[in-house]
Amino acid sequence: MMYNLCEKMNVNHHKCGKWVVAVNETEMEQLLHLERNGRQSGVEELRMLSKQEIVSQAESHLKASGVLLSPESGIVDAHSFIQALETLSRNRGCEIALQHTLSRMERRAMSYKLTLLAPDQEEMEIESETVVNCAGLNSDRVAEMLLKERLPMDYRLYQSKGFYFAYRGPNLLDSNRLIYPIPEKGVRTLGVHLTIDLNHNIKFGPDKHYMARTDPPNYNFPEDPAELDRIKKRFLQSIQAYFPKIQHENLHPDYSGVRPTRASETDTAFKVGCAGPCLFDEIQCFFLQDFIINEEGPLGFPGLVNLVGIESPGLTASLAIAEYTAALLGYKALDADLS
Ligand SMILES: Cc1cc2nc3c(=O)[nH]c(=O)nc-3n(C[C@H](O)[C@H](O)[C@H](O)COP(=O)(O)OP(=O)(O)OC[C@H]3O[C@@H](n4cnc5c(N)ncnc54)[C@H](O)[C@@H]3O)c2cc1C
Repeated sequence: MMYNLCEKMNVNHHKCGKWVVAVNETEMEQLLHLERNGRQSGVEELRMLSKQEIVSQAESHLKASGVLLSPESGIVDAHSFIQALETLSRNRGCEIALQHTLSRMERRAMSYKLTLLAPDQEEMEIESETVVNCAGLNSDRVAEMLLKERLPMDYRLYQSKGFYFAYRGPNLLDSNRLIYPIPEKGVRTLGVHLTIDLNHNIKFGPDKHYMARTDPPNYNFPEDPAELDRIKKRFLQSIQAYFPKIQHENLHPDYSGVRPTRASETDTAFKVGCAGPCLFDEIQCFFLQDFIINEEGPLGFPGLVNLVGIESPGLTASLAIAEYTAALLGYKALDADLS
């Protein structure tokens, strides 16, 4: 779906392929499991690389007992992609109210009343039979506006911050592709991976740092050099598991992002995360949760769809999520431009 839309709307993208790397026998089992799981989910093109292919394409830089190739994976200019969606929406008569904050929602007999605050603090009201809550880091709070005490416990979100470091050093590969480690067992994160942009720059990231729910999103790197160094060392340790030759001086702070993360009630992060300040690294946390995409008719709110905890790969999956959400609301599949 993504590639079709990018072609039709001239969105810059590159089908560069992805490697998932196992570094020992235990990880090999997980890699084979990943391959089976992918195939069962309909990803036919996955295949294990031969030892010869790995050596010829990654030379001696990569430590790998096995590599799973996903040839269909790729990268996209995310901003142009969103602009393309905006253009398609406006062409179909959508109005987009940027810089307006949803402050209240109320249930009416057959509809919902939404109150928005404009940048000049003037209130504006909208009435609609359907509402799709896709408020990212705030999606739990927006869901709570209607569900109130009926808000399921597992809709609660944490902010997890991920740093990216740019790589500058010797060539690592014969050609640019994405390289991922095996996802850590039981932890719902993909691990610190090698990612490239459309200008062929290499970055590694993201790691995962838990922020208290009440903290405003903060995208800065720590100012304290000792803390930055500590983060970098942990980061480097993750990378050196599969790129052992990469050194501290090859990595340079680049940017960070904050993801809406769901944790189960039994998680350490859940217990500690709500109370404490920014929690760096120390937490052993076991994420078992996936995205929530629920039509809330069963809770008494027909026509309301909550999308909660949509972190990566929410962008890649965005068109599929949209199609699924439309179907939940009884709308036909996406039109030809989007499929
Ligand atoms: C660093 C980083 C790297 C990522 N890399 C990838 C990747 O490689 N591949 C991938 O597929 N995904 C990736 N993701 C995840 C992807 O960005 C998200 O899954 C996706 O953006 C989710 O889209 P969304 O529309 O649900 O939420 P968002 O993109 O978070 O959009 C939510 C919007 O709602 C607005 N909002 C919130 N509250 C209110 C309110 N009260 N009133 C009005 N508006 C409100 C926000 O301002 C925001 O504009 C990455 C995320 C991060 C942070």
